[in-house]
Amino acid sequence: MILAFATAIITHLVIPVVFLVWLWRGVGKNRLEWLLNVLIVLFYSVHIFLSGRWDIFGYPLRYLLAIALIITLFKSLIQAKSLPLYPARKISRYFSLGVSGFIALFVLAPLVTYVPGGYSFSGESVELSFPLRNGVYYIAHGGNSPVLNHHNVDATQRYALDITKLNRLGTRATALYTASLTSYAIFEDTLYSPCNGTVSEAVDTFPDLIPPESDRENLAGNYILMQCQGADVVLAHLQKGSLVVQDGDNIQVGQAIAKIGNSGNTSEPHLHIHARRENTGASPLDGEGMAITFGEQFLVRNDLIFGP
Ligand SMILES: [Zn+2]
Repeated sequence: MILAFATAIITHLVIPVVFLVWLWRGVGKNRLEWLLNVLIVLFYSVHIFLSGRWDIFGYPLRYLLAIALIITLFKSLIQAKSLPLYPARKISRYFSLGVSGFIALFVLAPLVTYVPGGYSFSGESVELSFPLRNGVYYIAHGGNSPVLNHHNVDATQRYALDITKLNRLGTRATALYTASLTSYAIFEDTLYSPCNGTVSEAVDTFPDLIPPESDRENLAGNYILMQCQGADVVLAHLQKGSLVVQDGDNIQVGQAIAKIGNSGNTSEPHLHIHARRENTGASPLDGEGMAITFGEQFLVRNDLIFGP
């Protein structure tokens, strides 16, 4: 966990700031070198803007860094006008050009162009009502690409969503990572039924764990499995003792059914939701995965959903 957060700090904060300072001070001795180095900064910035976890550091920071980049690019463009077009005939200059070109065009460009593939899905989908209503919610994992959604490598959960809630600062918790469950904005939030349907399974026995503890045996923790319009919908990591439905209940869309907790294989409080084709798996985590749409929208990382 410490390694994951250290990596997140480096990729979301340290590298963008270092790039901004580099760009501000000048990134080339000639226009060709300038262009390749600007592409490095630009491609990296677009990638972290699209695929970064901005609920950790503050959603507004995503846009502050983007604005800072635009201003710095503008300044850099003015600086570049006075540069010679090509480098002096020195081997070392051409070597650094080659390195910049390789990083920009063969490492970062493919990384950026890979992201938009995650914004669409294939096959059938189920249309649901968004099951949280009391604030601003953030898609932490969602989309059809491992870059945007850590579930995407699993056939059943390839379109699963992990949802957090943003507090007034635009972060999901009052600290980068904390053992205090109530510090996470989504903890104990009311969960509403996403459809008119029937409860197939309702499990309410596992404790809410103190981060970073997790239960590797009971992966979904407390969960509700509902049959909705030809799909089985799984809502997982619910709070112990919070379920107000049981097996066989007929539920109306928008009906309060449980509260968000931190049970099962989870690093912190959040809602996990995924759908599979009806009756295709022996356990809630098996079966033929289906995409979910809310208001006909396929949600991906960094999408926000506003409560009423
Ligand atoms: Zn999940």
